Amino acid sequence: MRLEELSTPSYVVDEALLEKNLKILSGVMERTGCKIILAQKAFSMYATYPLIGQYLSGTAASGLFEARLGHEEMGKENHVFSPAYREEEMDEIIDLCDHIIFNSFSQLEKYREKVHKAQKAVGLRINPECSTQEGHEIYDPCARGSRFGVTLSQFEPEKLEGVSGFHFHTLCEQDADALAVTLDVIEEKFGEWLPQLEWINFGGGHHITREGYNLELLESCIKRMQDKYGLKVYLEPGEAIALNAGFLVTSVLDTLVNDVELAILDTSASCHMPDVLEMPYRPPLLGSGLPGEKEHTYRLGGPTCLAGDVIGDYSFDEPLKAGDRLIFGDMAIYSMVKNNTFNGMALPAICLRDKDGDCRVVRQFGYQDFKYRLS
Ligand SMILES: *Cc1c(COP(=O)(O)O)cnc(C)c1O
Repeated sequence: MRLEELSTPSYVVDEALLEKNLKILSGVMERTGCKIILAQKAFSMYATYPLIGQYLSGTAASGLFEARLGHEEMGKENHVFSPAYREEEMDEIIDLCDHIIFNSFSQLEKYREKVHKAQKAVGLRINPECSTQEGHEIYDPCARGSRFGVTLSQFEPEKLEGVSGFHFHTLCEQDADALAVTLDVIEEKFGEWLPQLEWINFGGGHHITREGYNLELLESCIKRMQDKYGLKVYLEPGEAIALNAGFLVTSVLDTLVNDVELAILDTSASCHMPDVLEMPYRPPLLGSGLPGEKEHTYRLGGPTCLAGDVIGDYSFDEPLKAGDRLIFGDMAIYSMVKNNTFNGMALPAICLRDKDGDCRVVRQFGYQDFKYRLS
């Protein structure tokens, strides 16, 4: 099937675009000897895991279900971090994962024995309290009062026994300069304990596959930790793996006027691209311009009854009409992992476009997917 023939709404992940990202990431691995794993929180389309597994070292999970998915569908290295683990899930998590990362000394003490018995690696998440981003407090694990990672004032070096690595995750959509600044602070605050470790995990938020990203600086940051402390370096980006590798194909259902020109689409910001409202941001729309840039400007909204279900204002060369197709870009990440059936909205189909441009529907959703989450 061609893209034009898919029913809407559909998420379409493009294998060639995904592979382009994977080649950039595996280049970093080859040149430095670091390991890069997929943070499934951002992208869990497991139909692509065999392809991703050809390039990357494995998966990162935030709990039991992601850990199980990574194990079942990729089956390579499997790391897990959770702000707190549930006791009844711990045996299975240890079974599925090779690196178990704790968020506090109390969790570490509670489970260390179990993890060691299974001969798995124990890690501790540290919080360098080094914010390198502005504006997105909900994406800043170093914000005041953050629940992520042990800060220096809470650090208890006498309890580090058996900890083979540190983990930090402090970036969001950032370049390598923010990483370099963070590493300076980590060395200053936690440098004393780095030589006794085997590995360090730089977390995610590295926008490695973005145009203009400073790969050279990233690689020097990796080498610095390898050479100075003899550490094995892990990175677990999510976004960077499927950045700009997917689309959301939608149709216009109707147009109307209320002061401004409006178009109602068969896709919802609230249900199908929740980050548009949560982040918030204006998703790219192929062939469109900024408001006023082209002749016809429309406010695009979803078919739910939420007044704020607005995707944004866009302009077009021709007036929109019912049946027109609109294609949003960068819709692989934080889209299908976060969508919902609020207001009885159907979930978009999940499709894969191969290198010849042929599209295949991998999974379709219907009424039962809505009903079974309720009772
Ligand atoms: C969210 C998250 C990631 C991935 O972040 P991206 O911004 O998608 O690269 C990696 N590690 C941890 C612990 C996370 O919470």
